[in-house]
Amino acid sequence: MIIDLRSDTMTKPTTGMLEAMMQAKVGDDVYGEDETVNALEYKLAVLFGMEAGLFCPSGTMTNQIAVKCFTSPMDEVILDQKSHVYRYEGGGVAYNSLSSVRLLQGDRGILTPELIEQNINPDDIHYPKSSLVVLENTVNRGGGSYYTLEQIEPIYHLCKLKNLKLHLDGARIFNALVETKDDPKKYGHLFDGISICLSKGLGAPVGSVLLGSRETIAKARRVRKVLGGGMRQAGFLAAAGIYALEHHVQRLKLDHLHAKALELALSKTSYVKHILPVKTNIVIFELDEKHDEESFVSRAGHLGVKCSSFGKRMIRFVTHLDISAEMIEYTIENLHKIH
Ligand SMILES: *Cc1c(COP(=O)(O)O)cnc(C)c1O
Repeated sequence: MIIDLRSDTMTKPTTGMLEAMMQAKVGDDVYGEDETVNALEYKLAVLFGMEAGLFCPSGTMTNQIAVKCFTSPMDEVILDQKSHVYRYEGGGVAYNSLSSVRLLQGDRGILTPELIEQNINPDDIHYPKSSLVVLENTVNRGGGSYYTLEQIEPIYHLCKLKNLKLHLDGARIFNALVETKDDPKKYGHLFDGISICLSKGLGAPVGSVLLGSRETIAKARRVRKVLGGGMRQAGFLAAAGIYALEHHVQRLKLDHLHAKALELALSKTSYVKHILPVKTNIVIFELDEKHDEESFVSRAGHLGVKCSSFGKRMIRFVTHLDISAEMIEYTIENLHKIH
């Protein structure tokens, strides 16, 4: 048995999802004629109270398009130093948008209006123009920490007041929503752009959707084209996304319970020094001084448990659709052997 806890991107399409893909009605999406892509974009836009959506190959692309749409060259983007947009998108903010970044240190990647306000540049030609704030929900490197709507609202008000755009990297937004039970419709009012991944815990093989106003999405469509992200009969992929939204959202709660069970078991081992309290489907923990991350990953691998090293003595487990209760049980029973 291989238990792949490296990432929630490892999921394979279920039989039901494959059937939905096979039956998709498709057309040329660059011509706007793929009805399944249109249906997916519409479905998510309505769900999040936004006007329009744009289906893209990856979450990196939806984030990068958003940054491009909401900045001009020489601007500055305010975001947490743990954020995906800064760390894992290959320097795309500089490359695609000719903008600099202002890195904040939130609590597990969660920003506050106070912290953001202190980092908005004054209107002075010495400084790049602060034009965009990016939030991540849930925060991957924060160990799946999340914002509630209540925490986002004052950030929205600050951005309005200071004339900044607000973008959400919602790669795992549904993991946050099943915990907070916040109404996704209210998100549309707070953000100028929302990026949602279908290929993480939702279990679709490919795809992310960018949501925004009609005007933003019209511009985003041009940027997607220039990046080479205009796909043709993409409805086969969009059908997987629609299926995931209809079948795989509520079950995310189960992934969170599994992550909690791993947390409890890890806390009883001899080699774990610290665990970031589990909030959703991500478990990040620190090994004691006697252990290093590379040999931990390799020893776990020999037992059939795949995990990720996540910095010095840091390990990450991620639960998802393809991790069963039985696999969690096996992992827990074998944790003491990995030392
Ligand atoms: C996975 C992820 C993305 C998008 O990644 P892609 O691999 O490009 O789809 C964006 N933000 C966060 C927080 C992620 O975890």
